[in-house]
Amino acid sequence: MALDLTKYIASIPDYPEKGIIFRDISPLMADGEAYKQATARIVQFARDKKVEMIVGPEARGFIVGCPVAYELGVGFAPARKKGKLPRETVEATYKLEYGTSALYMHKDAVKPGQRVLVTDDLLATGGTIGATIDLVEQLGGIVVGCAFIIELDALNGRDKIKNYDTLSLMNY
Ligand code: 5GP
Repeated sequence: MALDLTKYIASIPDYPEKGIIFRDISPLMADGEAYKQATARIVQFARDKKVEMIVGPEARGFIVGCPVAYELGVGFAPARKKGKLPRETVEATYKLEYGTSALYMHKDAVKPGQRVLVTDDLLATGGTIGATIDLVEQLGGIVVGCAFIIELDALNGRDKIKNYDTLSLMNY
């Protein structure tokens, strides 16, 4: 039976700052059946797209992407914060509320022409996923879709990725 996955999201008011409601996916991950059903829905979305590789940003993009990669029998490559990857990297910067941040991938993490699904737990402004897509494309990969557990509609992140087929399991 399909679970109502919204029951497995904790909403924390005023975190990390006043006025923000943080959507916490920990209860979903802590429940084997809920985690399995969330993964299965993303796997189904990915199957039609002939995905050959999954890429997710540090750190919750790994939690979403790795079980999908395992289930599809394809690889997973992480997009990481500065100083975490030991070999030659490509870099993509993105805007934060104050200042900028950057994500990195190993230069050989994606092969030219490879069909890639990018995953993260949550789409807010789209900065994080935009940088992840940028990295994949710098490496010559083809982003065939984006998948999230949660999308925050009010922050319009979807506008940044409107050219990509996008799945969100829940909208707030
Ligand atoms: P964006 O770059 O789209 O503005 O923000 C999305 C990124 O910030 C994601 O990597 C996500 O993990 C994190 N994030 C921002 N707000 C939340 C939230 O309310 N809950 C969770 N779980 N992650 C968030």
